[in-house]
Amino acid sequence: MDSLLSSSQVDIKEFLRPVLFGLAEEDLDELAQAAVLWSFPPGVAICQEGEPGDAVYVIVHGCVDVIKRLDDESERHLYRAGPGELFGEMAILQEGVRTATVRAAEPTTVLEIGQEPFLTVLGRSPSLGVRILVRVTGRLRDADQQSIAELSQANEELTRALRKLERLDRTKSDFIQVSAHELRTPVASLLGYAQMMQDNPTVQGIPGLRVLVEGVVASTERLHRVFNSILDVSRLMTGGLQIIRSPVGIPVIFEGIQLQFEGAIEERNLALELVGLEDLPICSGDPDLLYKVFYHLVSNAIKYTPDGGRVTVVGRTVEMPDLGQCVEVAVEDTGIGIAPQDLDLVFEKFYRTGEVALHSSGTVTFKGGGPGLGLAIARGAVLAHGGRIWAESPGYDEETCPGSRFVVQLPLAAEL
Ligand code: ADP
Repeated sequence: MDSLLSSSQVDIKEFLRPVLFGLAEEDLDELAQAAVLWSFPPGVAICQEGEPGDAVYVIVHGCVDVIKRLDDESERHLYRAGPGELFGEMAILQEGVRTATVRAAEPTTVLEIGQEPFLTVLGRSPSLGVRILVRVTGRLRDADQQSIAELSQANEELTRALRKLERLDRTKSDFIQVSAHELRTPVASLLGYAQMMQDNPTVQGIPGLRVLVEGVVASTERLHRVFNSILDVSRLMTGGLQIIRSPVGIPVIFEGIQLQFEGAIEERNLALELVGLEDLPICSGDPDLLYKVFYHLVSNAIKYTPDGGRVTVVGRTVEMPDLGQCVEVAVEDTGIGIAPQDLDLVFEKFYRTGEVALHSSGTVTFKGGGPGLGLAIARGAVLAHGGRIWAESPGYDEETCPGSRFVVQLPLAAEL
């Protein structure tokens, strides 16, 4: 940049007069004396964001772009200023660093006035103070309007992206639902044939064959269960699951569950204890769905507890400020526990903690992970009943087995 010191002080004073009108003659003289004329080629920064601000500038001719650096290293154009306009006053007033970069947009000449003479004159001249105040508030208002416009545009883009994601999610859910439905039908008949083969006297009479057929039946049953779970979860997610309410006794549900896991509990030398269930009032709910909720919780408690451990189911009635009177059922185990960061995530569909590849498979074998749907189904079903479900655990440790506790609260207010 070149200093155009050749310009006379008289010229500068006459240039500043209309720009800073209302100033006393001696103030104009003082500013004109302090002012230095500079010219800049296009693209050169006249002042740089982050640097200390020690002067104000008045554009003589040409124009400048005021630019703000954003966090992602991109730039935002704040405004363009032309002849007679002032810039750089904000940093001076706040005695701070420049909050924006000012760049010449074309060959530009500016008057630079140092901080000290400018502040001295400003202290003496209320009219200059008011003019600067008006300018600064005007810029703030412009910046506000620009931010609001950008925010609403960003909001529109986000809304469009959200709609697209929702459409994709629906397509994915539809695909999962249709595939699970289509696959479940042949698997159901496969299971029927395999069970018929299992009952066949010839198969029964050949031990080697019987073991093979039992293997086919067990695997097909598992496949059938997985497809049913996928269907349940996709219906719960898409609101396609109808709740058919009737009076439900929690102890009856647990009688069925106890019977279902009897063999596994004995085989794995576990203890299943039911506490306080008999005293629970009758709830209003969908018996099939509620059965699934507690089936998955007990199945998990068994799966994630080492042999010789204990699963305790505790029932009680509680009064909650938001849900009113509720039946609360907690399924506690002495198993491997859950890390704090996983306590909410375990309820996501297809979510499984730890190394997925290391999971064995089985409904009751220790760490015999499933497809990661049980808790998603449980949560969907509890929410559909207007209740809530959450997990508690001191942490995950396969050595010390701190245990987990899954709590379900079902409001009793729902009509029977
Ligand atoms: P999965 O079919 O894998 O059991 P779930 O949705 O039932 O799927 O559970 C999701 C994950 O939550 C499991 O893979 C397991 O890591 C964790 N989890 C669920 N219940 C327990 C529990 N009682 N103890 C420890 N971890 C559990």
